[in-house]
Amino acid sequence: MMLALEMYRSLPRYIAARAMGGRIPGILTGPAAPVRLVTRDEPRLAAPGWARVKPVLSGICGSDLGALFGQTSLYFSALVSMPFVPGHEVVGVLQDDCDDLPKGTRVVLDPVLSCAARGVERCESCASGQTNRCDRITVGHVSPGLQTGYCADTGGGWGGVLVAHRSQLHAVPEGLSDERAVLVEPLACAVHTAQRAEVPDGGSVLVSGAGAVGLFATLALRELTNAGRISVVAKHPRQRELAKAFGASDIVAPDEVPARVRRATQAFRLAPERSAEFLLGGVDVAVDAVGSKDSLGTALRVTKAGGRVVVSGMPSTGADLSPVWFRELTVAGSYASRGGDAFDKAFDLAASASLDGVVGGRYPLYRWREALDHAHSAGRLGTVKVAFDLRSSR
Ligand SMILES: [Zn+2]
Repeated sequence: MMLALEMYRSLPRYIAARAMGGRIPGILTGPAAPVRLVTRDEPRLAAPGWARVKPVLSGICGSDLGALFGQTSLYFSALVSMPFVPGHEVVGVLQDDCDDLPKGTRVVLDPVLSCAARGVERCESCASGQTNRCDRITVGHVSPGLQTGYCADTGGGWGGVLVAHRSQLHAVPEGLSDERAVLVEPLACAVHTAQRAEVPDGGSVLVSGAGAVGLFATLALRELTNAGRISVVAKHPRQRELAKAFGASDIVAPDEVPARVRRATQAFRLAPERSAEFLLGGVDVAVDAVGSKDSLGTALRVTKAGGRVVVSGMPSTGADLSPVWFRELTVAGSYASRGGDAFDKAFDLAASASLDGVVGGRYPLYRWREALDHAHSAGRLGTVKVAFDLRSSR
């Protein structure tokens, strides 16, 4: 048996709507809470090649909050199986030998549950090494689930034990602290975002959002591409500091984006009737690292004709696609990462970047309400990443 946080039902839509805008503590303590702390059976090994992992630290991701609070598109309801234990940003310790990795190895998780983990013949995406694009995430050895942390059979990082397939495991180099290792998965996603951005040499980039997704994207863009000016949209003082430390050229407040991008890129600024300002001209690449209608809308409206907009945060719905048509923008999704190479680069970033203090809140499982509330208000509270500390909840 193990202690775990379990998402066991969807938040009703009418409550989800009310949860927008900071009412999350009420949701978590009320009778409609979609998540609960339970004692449940440990997940079973699905097949050969699987092993148990004891999470040590497990991060709380924006996509977790979106799923818990019903802010995510119902599109994803076909890609999960309930009840599940959330948590896909994990550093933990192997409890069994797993192929070449001996029991006791410290590992981080690539959460994507692709063909290899599911024991099915590789789909076209997996065969080409793009496991994040796997087409078989609903079949095979385990129940539907795009990732560990959304699948009923695997457990997740917010519980005492999870099971993972060898294809999901990366050994942590000695000397890399747990506090840095837990950031490797989100850093791998940021590496993938930088790759998907296809920034031209010296190109101008706008990163819309300075939560963990935006800050890590800024770091990866600066370290791994030849981007010129990288402007980061940030609200809070600590976010501004970190964005600078991670390579931002300048920091822009949300309400000054069109004006500031116009000046930096010599664009024309237009103010349409009863609609938001937009530019003719603008940045070469914009990265939406929030996923809100406003954030994506801003990214689309300040990207130059023929430019590229990368959707990096889990999106909500409703942005105006007029600029995509009129400016012939390329909209590129960035979901998870392509595994091996992205994780190699992420381990390098985790070791070299100034990440001390980035995990700013650590909670045992039984303080889950505080943890989720802290994660929801992280930006305002000057925290980048909140994590569950499983060492203290056993
Ligand atoms: Zn596949």
